Amino acid sequence: MNYRNFPMVSKVIFGRGSFNQLEEILTPKRLNTKAPFIFFVDDVFKGDARLTSRIPLAYDDKLYYISTKEEPKTTQIDELVEDIILTFKERPSGIIGIGGGSILDLAKAVSIMINNDGESKDYQGWDLVTNPAIYHIGIPTISGTGAEVSRTAILTGPERKLGINSDYTPFDQVILDPELTKDVPTQQWFYTGMDCYVHCIESLNGTYLNEFSKTYGEKAFELCKEIFLEDNLTEEESQDKLMMASWHGGMSIAYSQVGVAHAMSYGLSYLLGIKHGIGNCIVFDHLSEYYPDGVAMFKEMKKKHNIVLPQNVCTDLSDKEFDIMIDVALSLEPLWENAIGKQWKKTITREKLKALYQLM
Ligand code: NAD
Ligand code: ZN
Repeated sequence: MNYRNFPMVSKVIFGRGSFNQLEEILTPKRLNTKAPFIFFVDDVFKGDARLTSRIPLAYDDKLYYISTKEEPKTTQIDELVEDIILTFKERPSGIIGIGGGSILDLAKAVSIMINNDGESKDYQGWDLVTNPAIYHIGIPTISGTGAEVSRTAILTGPERKLGINSDYTPFDQVILDPELTKDVPTQQWFYTGMDCYVHCIESLNGTYLNEFSKTYGEKAFELCKEIFLEDNLTEEESQDKLMMASWHGGMSIAYSQVGVAHAMSYGLSYLLGIKHGIGNCIVFDHLSEYYPDGVAMFKEMKKKHNIVLPQNVCTDLSDKEFDIMIDVALSLEPLWENAIGKQWKKTITREKLKALYQLM
């Protein structure tokens, strides 16, 4: 048996208001006054002085506001890297991503591509990165994806939506400040929070499960139940707990994998541009065959928070379009193997996936 040896986030700080310590974290990491820190900030924060006034820009540091209407693309990463290389004579001191899963993945990918030749699409896959990334920090402002702790940076490329999975992907530093999540709108809070819930269900019910994954997954699952089903938490407690649930959910899938909901939601995302959180919800709602208890609880959570999911998103699709989604979903072999087992190809046929997509 050859066990996988995982890198982890090297440093992490947790606490309400810990964002104020960003400057003291950055200062010793500055290589010289010509080597800037590059900040990628979700453009939802543009004009929000409570956050932006606390970003410690100095010397040649540069801040890019990034729209998250669409999830990060390989072409977008390549353009940002080119812009940075053309603008600055020196390699940056570091990359800081401030936002949700989209911005965290974008920051990870840029930090890798600054030090690696070619285009980011060439690195989508497992362990294709040769040179270490530059120093990179992740600061989540919405909780659930686990992108702050994971070993992947998920990008939509010309051929598929797939992560840059590598030992160089995880952040060198993460700042977990639950206060940053306080203005997330309820719907989005639910969708991104459910990403964490689905990570737990898929990990805990997967064939790859071991005690490492189980321990993290059970904790995250317990926290999700408290947050989304019970009424005993203050808003602050709920924010704190969801941030830690996201972390544990992300840790849980390090050794295991996600499953059916993620495989199929990647198809929806690739063809229709449906975002990860809501896409998982749309799919998961129809997966009681695979995750009976998890889906029943999901329906309770949905009801409690008055969430109405989009219906019939696949109604008007052509056979060719179904084929595109099915191809994307089926290409994610490790997800199916985790969900169903080594013999997954016997039951997960194109017809089966089409029938499921037709329900959505
Ligand atoms: P997101 O980053 O797209 O953000 C969702 C929405 O919330 C955006 O409109 C954003 O502007 C808004 N938002 C964020 N913080 C806010 C705040 N504090 N106040 C108000 N609005 C705020 O969504 P997400 O669900 O966090 O991430 C989805 C992305 O993460 C997808 O691209 C997915 O592929 C990726 N993902 C990555 C991993 C990983 O391990 N790398 C895991 C799961 C998902
Ligand atoms: Zn996910």
